[in-house]
Amino acid sequence: MAVSLPDSFAELLRSKFEDAKKSGTLVFTDSVAEDVEVKNVSFQIRLAEGLSKKPAPSEEKSEDKTPKPKFNPFLNPDPDLLLCDLGPDYRLVLNKFSIVPYHFLCITKDFRPQSSPLSEEDLEATWACLQADSVEDGKKLMAFYNCGEVSGASQSHKHVQFIPIPEKSKLIPDVALTYGNSKSQDAIGEFPTFNPEIPFAHFVLPIPPSATAEDLVMRFSSLLARTLTALHEHGQKGIAFNFAMTKEWMFMAPRTKAFYEDVSVNATGMVGMLMAKSTEQLEFIKSTGPLEVLLGVSVPLKLEDEKHHHY
Ligand code: AMP
Repeated sequence: MAVSLPDSFAELLRSKFEDAKKSGTLVFTDSVAEDVEVKNVSFQIRLAEGLSKKPAPSEEKSEDKTPKPKFNPFLNPDPDLLLCDLGPDYRLVLNKFSIVPYHFLCITKDFRPQSSPLSEEDLEATWACLQADSVEDGKKLMAFYNCGEVSGASQSHKHVQFIPIPEKSKLIPDVALTYGNSKSQDAIGEFPTFNPEIPFAHFVLPIPPSATAEDLVMRFSSLLARTLTALHEHGQKGIAFNFAMTKEWMFMAPRTKAFYEDVSVNATGMVGMLMAKSTEQLEFIKSTGPLEVLLGVSVPLKLEDEKHHHY
């Protein structure tokens, strides 16, 4: 692979996070997480009442249609939040508004639109970040990318995000890999798999441990092709999807809406980790059911003969 992290990255991430939190540059919001098991998936619903302070895309829209330059926090990142460069084209920065410790982002140095799919270079940079030593015991990193207007993204400058998740997660992609036909760790040329018990369109592929850039691109393209087909079949004009990746799998799901009622959903939600801004929202998600919430912002899963797809 073309790029790699500095050896001491986990230590750098830990110390920069603690310093930025202490100085107040990083605004950390406390939260409590609750596990809800549905269809073998261990959903995590996190209540973070301070979340309402984070700018949401809907709050940024105003009646005044005169175009105004919007502040781009990723063009000149705050030095207190800057972790390091990653090769000549990327920077790693701490999330200024963190809910989980050690949440960081891989941003392009020059402006690139968040509405574009991940390139080979973006995937290589993401893979390099996923190789970081564990920053918290029993945790591994999950990368996620919110692409397109209704995907839950709030910034238009290209950024892939990383959060620590439990090593032995039972998220939608983990469970999907126990179904279907792509059990092999070397699934190139095979079809993306999915969990037929999950009602919204989602596509998953395993990643071999020593993946090459080509392995990553082939898998991403395969998931994107299925996602675009699902959006097209449901008459969607724009392109919006959520992507998530660990060292074991890649996941993608099409998106049609940013919110279910007033619950904002991004890629973390689509894999099974939902956020609630209030106890009312938490109760609403639980009584509605996480799968119903996710179906409401996506398109239904189509159970079909996979052989019709040649990708
Ligand atoms: P998204 O909302 O998915 O587009 O992700 C953008 C992320 O950038 C959010 O998690 C924000 O908390 C984070 N963010 C917003 N402003 C800054 C900033 N100035 N520096 C670092 N991260 C930021």
